[in-house]
Amino acid sequence: LIELDRAHLIHPVASYRGHEKLGVRVLKSAKGATVTDMTGHQMIDGFAGLWCVNAGYGHESIVEAAAKQMRELPYATGYFSLGSEPAIRLASELADRAPGDLNHIYFTLGGSDAVDSTVRFIRYYYHSLGTPEKDQFISLEQGYHGSSTVGAGLTALPVFHAGFGLPFDWQHKIPSHYAYRNPAGTDPQAIIASSVAVLKAKIEEIGAEHVAAFYVEPIQGSGGVLVPPTGWLKAMHEVCKQYDVLLVADEVITGFGRTGPLFACSDDDVVPDFMTTAKGLTSGYVPMGAVFMSDKVYNTIADGAGAAAIGHGYTYSAHPVSAAVGLEVLRLYENGLLENGVKAGARLMAGLESLKDHPLVGDVRGRGMLAAIELVTDKQKKTPLPAAADPSRRIFDRAWDNGLVIRAFGNGVLGYAPPLCCTESDIDAIIERTRLTLDQTLN
Ligand code: PMP
Repeated sequence: LIELDRAHLIHPVASYRGHEKLGVRVLKSAKGATVTDMTGHQMIDGFAGLWCVNAGYGHESIVEAAAKQMRELPYATGYFSLGSEPAIRLASELADRAPGDLNHIYFTLGGSDAVDSTVRFIRYYYHSLGTPEKDQFISLEQGYHGSSTVGAGLTALPVFHAGFGLPFDWQHKIPSHYAYRNPAGTDPQAIIASSVAVLKAKIEEIGAEHVAAFYVEPIQGSGGVLVPPTGWLKAMHEVCKQYDVLLVADEVITGFGRTGPLFACSDDDVVPDFMTTAKGLTSGYVPMGAVFMSDKVYNTIADGAGAAAIGHGYTYSAHPVSAAVGLEVLRLYENGLLENGVKAGARLMAGLESLKDHPLVGDVRGRGMLAAIELVTDKQKKTPLPAAADPSRRIFDRAWDNGLVIRAFGNGVLGYAPPLCCTESDIDAIIERTRLTLDQTLN
């Protein structure tokens, strides 16, 4: 398999950076929070696949829901005036649970196309309002909003831009709240004040009459799990309201219990104009994303000139099998999974905090089942691990050998996003195996 993979399967992020020489790690099966590779080696999946298998592996009821739907009706397009029962029911169930008036759902295949869809919908919205000149978009440094071309431009990670002239000239960035390395210091109020000031300054520099929307992850995921201070999102939303700028909360990672509640916006009591979700929506069993749109935006587009201009859709949007899975996953969340995630998340955070005594651990951050530790060689100076030594792949490999899957970002940030079904002993194993891995890294 390793040879066939080298010869034929493209892994864009790894292949072109020489990692293919090390060979792919092939998983064979999984149950609960434990995954098993082709050699029979078992690991706790501390990253829930790619922050997505929130419900954990091996749920027969999910498999049944998918199989039943495949037998009954495996496909119906959501493109035109056609639909299927599970897609309609899932939209309705999601709207019931969404914050505020986010009552309109557009299903996609994942997170990147959910983000792309919001950009289109926002343009239609301003067309309908008769202010098409509001066409500039702002997002955060260290932000991740997908790897489609439009999403990659909103994403602030430079590897996603090179060679494509990205970001587009209508895509602007402001600095993140990244507390551990924030020039405004680590005081939460100072960070909020500084972010508010830079957002205002950016809107005024562009001209509020041209600014369409501000995109934000309630917790920045792929940028290294950067958690803003409590009240940060609300303060940024106030700025958006003041300048008539739409707020898009990208909850592709944070949605569906990752931080505790169904949606992380609720942690800060914020109702955005749009929410994008994917991953935990179907818990990774099948692909699906969902855009949540407010009454205000929906009604404006539907009633205005924007509707006539709409040319948008995907063959697999509102896929009935994905929707059937989404309905079953939602039932699981509400039958104990969210609750278990809160308990396990508290244990995970306490366990990671206990690693602060380790000479390599400079920062511990997170909320619920979404966390990271940042490794440094000098805690006082916050010196990052040398990137040249590629500590991330080596730490990832060591953790794997120790029975733990984690995400090793560049420069020694280790990410954690375990399934919400983790038991106490799963969480304790994550912490113990991390400590062992760090000790081996030190020596
Ligand atoms: N937005 C955020 C916040 C994400 O974390 C991701 C994926 N990690 C995406 C969008 C893109 O989602 P997908 O990979 O499903 O296209």
